[in-house]
Amino acid sequence: MDLYFDNAATTRLSENALKAYIDTERDFFANPSSVHGEGIRAHKELERNRERIASLLSVPASSLFFTSGATESIAAVFSSLLLAEPGKVIISAIEHEAVSSWLRPLESHGWKTARLKAKGGFVKKEDLEAELTPDTRLVAIMAVNNVTGAIEDTAGLIGTVREYEKNLKHRIFFFADSVQALGKIPYGIASLDIDGASFSAHKLNGPRGIGMLYLKRPEAFRAIAPAGGQEKGKRGGTENLPAIAGFRAALEEWIPDAAANQARIASLNARIRDAITSAGLKVLSPENASPYIISFASPLPSEVYTRMLSDKGISASSGSACSNNTKGEGERILLAMGFRSSEAKQAVRISLSNASDEESVDTLIEAIKEIGNGR
Ligand code: PLP
Repeated sequence: MDLYFDNAATTRLSENALKAYIDTERDFFANPSSVHGEGIRAHKELERNRERIASLLSVPASSLFFTSGATESIAAVFSSLLLAEPGKVIISAIEHEAVSSWLRPLESHGWKTARLKAKGGFVKKEDLEAELTPDTRLVAIMAVNNVTGAIEDTAGLIGTVREYEKNLKHRIFFFADSVQALGKIPYGIASLDIDGASFSAHKLNGPRGIGMLYLKRPEAFRAIAPAGGQEKGKRGGTENLPAIAGFRAALEEWIPDAAANQARIASLNARIRDAITSAGLKVLSPENASPYIISFASPLPSEVYTRMLSDKGISASSGSACSNNTKGEGERILLAMGFRSSEAKQAVRISLSNASDEESVDTLIEAIKEIGNGR
């Protein structure tokens, strides 16, 4: 039984992804940039993986660029701004620090920045509209929040930007960190007029250290340093072919059954929510959040409650916990959503994956009942 409920931080590598990783490492060891036979074979394998992923996501293969993860995909976009005349960047106040940590370096290079409020977890179109200025170059609003699972109205927010830019001579780059959206909610980047998006394999049973940057108009995007020119100059460095194959294999398992799994996970989510409220605890995630994430507050400090779960063999997390080096990150995001400081300090996040089943959720619910309100 899998009592791992910290899947928004990372997921277990699937057997198929592991096999694809090992087979590719062994059979396609050459550098895809080498011009000898082995190199050409590796290059073909690289492109085969890209095409397969592109068809699963219904986007052109030429719009996908492999990176070491979402953090690097985001860095590619934000660092490219340093090549442009300083203007304005607008982000939501609930972005992952992979995005929010870019504001300071941009400010020190003369950029103006704005953080949009997200009461209850949602960015309002009116707030975005009020911040848009003729010198706005980039708007970054995540698709699904990693702490509460709140789903933003990405299509509506893009619409606001496209409406505003009608009177401008330049296009405003709309970026959506899509790490927690892909495969976990109905989310088709192909149908959105989005300029850039970040993805990460390890949130979907793929390997760590591999991700993607989606660029709708790659020809209009200049990376700050193309290095060895790999990935058409958008991301230099020898391609991590085994990890790319592992990512492809993970997506081949996840994407075709995504709708059925989302419905199944939604019913597990509803049971967990009931258990939380019956124990007298407060659910912090919005009603219509991603079914894969439930945050709640107990009267105990986050660390104490998660330790009590851990003593019962259950892995959950306090706040966002994508990294232990940035304690308080989940707290920052919950405060930005308008929760009280005590609630933010007492937040626990349960996050599911397709491996979560009735039996594991029964055990989790039993544990929530036993701990009660901790008093
Ligand atoms: N963005 C969000 C919303 C995340 O949840 C994470 C997870 O840590 C990241 C970005 C960073 O992803 P990666 O670990 O691939 O760099």
